[in-house]
Formats: sequence, C-alpha cells, structure tokens
Amino acid sequence: MDSQMRQLIEKDRNHVWHHLSQHSGLKKQDPMVMVEGKGTRITDAKGNNYLDASSGGVWCVNVGYGRTEIADAVRDQLVKLNFFGSTTGTEPAAEFAEKLLEKMPGMSRVYYASSGSEANEKAFKIVRQISQLKYGGKKNKILYRERDYHGTTIGALSATGQEERRLHYGPFAPGFVEFPHCCEYRSQFGDVKDYGILAAKELEKVILREGPETVGAVIFEPITAGGGVITPPEGYWPAVMEICKKYNVLVHIDEVVCGMSRTGKWFGYQHYGIKPDIVTLAKGVASSYAPISCVVTTEAIFNEFLADGSDREAYFRDISTYAGCTSGPAAALANLKILERENLVENTAVVGEYLLNKLKDLATKHSIIGDVRGKGLLLGIELVTDKQTKAPVDEQVAIKIAGMCMQKGLIIGRTNRSFKFLNNTLCLCPILTLTHEEADFIADTIDQVLTELN
Ligand code: PLP
Repeated sequence: MDSQMRQLIEKDRNHVWHHLSQHSGLKKQDPMVMVEGKGTRITDAKGNNYLDASSGGVWCVNVGYGRTEIADAVRDQLVKLNFFGSTTGTEPAAEFAEKLLEKMPGMSRVYYASSGSEANEKAFKIVRQISQLKYGGKKNKILYRERDYHGTTIGALSATGQEERRLHYGPFAPGFVEFPHCCEYRSQFGDVKDYGILAAKELEKVILREGPETVGAVIFEPITAGGGVITPPEGYWPAVMEICKKYNVLVHIDEVVCGMSRTGKWFGYQHYGIKPDIVTLAKGVASSYAPISCVVTTEAIFNEFLADGSDREAYFRDISTYAGCTSGPAAALANLKILERENLVENTAVVGEYLLNKLKDLATKHSIIGDVRGKGLLLGIELVTDKQTKAPVDEQVAIKIAGMCMQKGLIIGRTNRSFKFLNNTLCLCPILTLTHEEADFIADTIDQVLTELN
C-alpha cells in the first residue's frame, strides 16, 4: 500500500464517524475505505478488489459503478442550472417525473425529496393532512408492520418494526401502530395451509382494535428488505388490499429498496397486483449518483390538496431545500435510460432466478441454511443451528461468514440482529448488470465459506 493510501486510512480512522458502526473495533483493525468502482466491482484503499453483492453496502447502486453517462448528465445540468427552490419547476424534475410515471400506471404525481426517510415523512404528512381536511383530524393513525424498516428520522423510526433500530431513540411519535409480520418461515400460527390469509387478518384485527375511523394509512415494504428479505406469502396481498379497501385505509408502499427494477419488475408492488395510493422511492432512483427520493401519489391523493377557495390551508404545506437540486432528477433520468436500454429489469429477473436456484441447492447441502428467499436480485439466506427447530445462529456467525466472503473477494450484507426474532439472514443485493458467471462466483464463494466453517 502506498503512503498516500496509508494516510487516507489514518485520516478516516481519526476523523470520520461511520454509520451503524462500533468504532472501538477500529482501534485494532484498519477501517475500510473505498476508493474506486467500476461496474459490479469495487476497490478499497489497500488495493483489494471485490465483487460487490451489496450494491454499495446499502442496496442502492442499481446500475453499477463508474457510469460516465450519469456523471456527464449531472455535470451538464449543474452547469446549466444547479438549483432552484422546489416551489418552482425545473427542466430535469419535469422530464424525470414524466418518464417515471410511464412505469407506474395508476400513479400521477411526483413530489421530490432527498432520502428515503424524508420521502416517508412527507407521505405521513400527506396522510395526516388528508385526515385534517376530510375527517376532522380523526383518521390520522398510520399502521406499520413488524420487521419493516422505513427510515432513520424520528417519524420514520416511529413507523419501523425493528427493535434494534429503535432502541434508545424513544419516545416516538404518537399515532403509529404496529401489526404482525408475514414471514412464513417464522409463522406465528405453526404450519398452516392459509398462512398468507391469516397473516393479512392480523392487520384487520389491529384496524378493528384501533377503530377504522382512526386509521388513515398502512405502510408496507412490498418485500421486506433489511428485516430479513421476506417475500409475502401466497394470498397475502389480495387479502390486504381487500381489508384496506373495506376500511377506507390508504395503502403506502415503501419502494426505497425494491423500486427501480431491484426485484425483476420496475417496482416490487407490481408483482402482487397491489394498487397503491402512495409510493415512496429513493436508493435506486438515481443509483445513488445523487441524493434524490420521490413521493409518488395517485391523482385522487393530489386532488385532496386542491383548494376550493374556502380553505386557504388546504395545499400541502411542506418544503425541503434540497428537493430543488437539479442533480437528482438529472441523474435519475440518465439512470432510468440505462435501465431501459440495457434491459436491466429483465436481466434482474433472469439472473436473480438463476442465483436463487443455486442458493436453494446450497440449502440442501449445508445444514446451517434454514431458508432461502427473495425475488430478482434481492435475496436472503436465513441461518439456523438446526433446520428442524429453526433455532437461529448467533449473530457472530453471520458476521464471520460475511468477513470470510470478503477475504475471498465478495461483499455481502446481513440483517441487523432483531431482538425479538434473532434472525440472521445473509443478504444479497448485487448490481443489476450481474452476469451468470458472477452469480456462480457468489454462490461458489458462499459454498466454500460454509464448507470451511464446518
Ligand atoms: N425504507 C426502506 C425500505 C429502507 O431500506 C430505507 C433505508 O435503508 C429507508 C426507507 C430509509 O432510506 P434513507 O436511508 O435514504 O433515509
């Protein structure tokens, strides 16, 4: 390693506070500092090169590293007009909104923000304001599902069903109510035939307990990502949609991870015939070449905010400065063109299915693999000490496996420990250009690591 890179590592160690990290470990060990990426691969300051099956560590660099086309689009836009406050329109904001909505039949308005948490906060404000405008403020509760994650700010954490993320940060915002998860592998009802319907009924029970007249919306991840890559069970979504319609509850789909082709369709909800009222997007919108997020709504939601002249407060009284940065929609537009031109939705579906099957083969060979699940290039491997009892492995095992993969040139993710479920799921979220050969490398590396672990 040259001295410049050594200095860089020391600067990082001495001055940067990493997210979600226990820094005491970095006294003995060098912090990892990334310096360059190209396609599906990333290089650290020590010159190690990896296949990145985490899309940037937090599942967001959908089209891969080093896309000069996006960088050029951002540069050109910044030189032309870098910013104007989002109470006004800009060229890339209008162009991207039109292109995005082509992919989302039934949706009709795009409201810009800068992060997934922020988009979800804005969506909650939309629900609360509709409650004020139409229901005398009474229909203001937002239900969220156990194991789903919706962001880091206090409002978004108030709607998050992961204890580890919430610990130490209460008290939370009032009006957010949890309902049970829908992970069939961790069924609350034992081994039953209609798990999906039963899991959906748990939502109905909570709506009835709270009073349907008080429930404004339910927020869901279409496929739970960080909470363990949970694909919805058969029958779940049709039952959920019926329940929400019956009690006049808005459906908010958080597509922050699943959006922009991650699961092999443009949006995760499109696998399940869901008709959302509100969709939030971030991460893959611009493959993280710029911070941009979106709240996308139906025309019906938008129309709730059209004043009839008698209510001067009826418009959506929300603003964020950086929603006016043109780099975001410029990057998002270039990103979307790449997804289209390179048929990455289709590639994700095909290579994702191939990798899923390879991982399922590994599950027959390794007793530590309890379950393999996911869709497209969002896949999870749940680790257990015993396939019969499904007792979870200690989280140190998942940490060790991820470390051993890294030593073999593969970056994978893992779920946070959830205090209640103690599930430890290895997470694969590769870049969407992934080839069959790269999928082989991922599966073979995990196979080798699990063999060595024995
Ligand atoms: N929603 C989901 C499903 C997420 O996974 C995340 C982040 O991981 C968020 C929201 C929050 O997004 P951000 O970190 O951009 O605020």
